[in-house]
Amino acid sequence: AVEIHNATKSYGDRTVLRGIDLTVEQGSVTVILGPSGSGKSTLLRAINHLEKLDEGYVRVGGDLIGVQVAGDRFRELPEKAIRKQRARIGFVFQAFNLFPHLTILENIVEAPISQGVKAGDARATARTLLARVGLSDKESAYPRQLSGGQQQRVAIARALALEPSVILFDEPTSALDPELVGEVLAVIRGLAGSGTTLIVVTHELGFAREVGDRVVFVDDGRIVEQGTPEEVLDRPQQRRTQEFLSSVL
Ligand code: ATP
Ligand code: MG
Repeated sequence: AVEIHNATKSYGDRTVLRGIDLTVEQGSVTVILGPSGSGKSTLLRAINHLEKLDEGYVRVGGDLIGVQVAGDRFRELPEKAIRKQRARIGFVFQAFNLFPHLTILENIVEAPISQGVKAGDARATARTLLARVGLSDKESAYPRQLSGGQQQRVAIARALALEPSVILFDEPTSALDPELVGEVLAVIRGLAGSGTTLIVVTHELGFAREVGDRVVFVDDGRIVEQGTPEEVLDRPQQRRTQEFLSSVL
């Protein structure tokens, strides 16, 4: 499970996360919705400690992320230990962030090999993953030779290559042309129910409804409302949620 407890964060005098508590069950799909600037990306980045919290903490699979308990407070873990934890938490960004000078296969094997996986094993796994995202024929291509949707599917394969227990998606389709959104969402849908925990920030309400086990609506650094897709999308209780949903539709 992913447990977020009292996540609190400010930039200067601007408070971005106002004490977020959220538990995500292992193997489930949670969709996070909310207006621009509400703190969604900051929250995702806090989960793998790309963002340090001012207060609160995150546990993944029971382990504190990025910090250890020192007396009655937290102390930052050494960078090497944080990197090891991050390897268990995949991250797929809005912009695909592939290495432009590496082939598709090289992009996928880079992290596993640097984590100590044997090159031959890493390549075999990468080929299986490329088949899973429907891109077996592209292993020798370079990112610029692929469409945005294909690049994002490679980015997902790359995240999977480290066998993460959790994958965080930050608006994975919002940089794509509309006709490419479906193929990426289909790949994410295919990961649901495979045991990996998926936390997806997206404005795609159809995806949230179909694939989400839970939907969480965030506004101004707080969770305003959460529940099943039916509860949050069809019968929102809070006015802010209702307003947001009618602005997205
Ligand atoms: P969007 O839907 O536009 O991606 P978001 O919900 O992901 O928005 P965040 O990116 O988490 O929002 O940002 C929340 C707030 O924190 C915004 O007001 C943003 O300007 C501010 N912010 C984010 N990162 C920083 C930073 N490094 N320094 C200062 N302010 C920041
Ligand atoms: Mg964001």
